[in-house]
Amino acid sequence: MSERTLSIIKPDGVARGLVGEIYRRFEASGLRIIGARMTRLDTQKARAFYQAHRQRPFYDDLVAYMTSGPIMAQVLEGDNAIQRNRELMGATNPAQAAVGTVRADYGESIERNVVHGSDGPGAAREEIDFFFRPDDLHSR
Ligand code: UDP
Ligand code: MG
Repeated sequence: MSERTLSIIKPDGVARGLVGEIYRRFEASGLRIIGARMTRLDTQKARAFYQAHRQRPFYDDLVAYMTSGPIMAQVLEGDNAIQRNRELMGATNPAQAAVGTVRADYGESIERNVVHGSDGPGAAREEIDFFFRPDDLHSR
């Protein structure tokens, strides 16, 4: 079943010039990029985006990291896109991420782990709406 998911290349990934390499992996795996936007989150937006984590000890650091520079947000579409993107990303902690995943190859720490991906259909819908208007998505 075709699905959509939200992906973010986090500030460390943009700063290190990893956008092209990560987009190559999406396209090589058959995920279609149907919308993309560079933006920079302010504190209020980053807090809102990660509100599910507001009680966690890492929340303030995460918000500081996510506002430290521009990010690339993209909507990926394809069969089972949510899980397939999570597989390309690898585990949250790069030290535990499978060989060949983005986080294993490029992640510096459990915080600075280069990419975000929605974790389920409800989150995907909310996170896509957070960054994109329907007009800016081009299903194909
Ligand atoms: N994070 C962190 N410390 C932790 C767990 C997570 O700094 O112990 C950061 C990390 O950048 C992660 C984000 O918070 O990507 C969101 O955490 P989540 O558990 O949702 O991981 P993800 O879905 O990104 O793999
Ligand atoms: Mg998550």
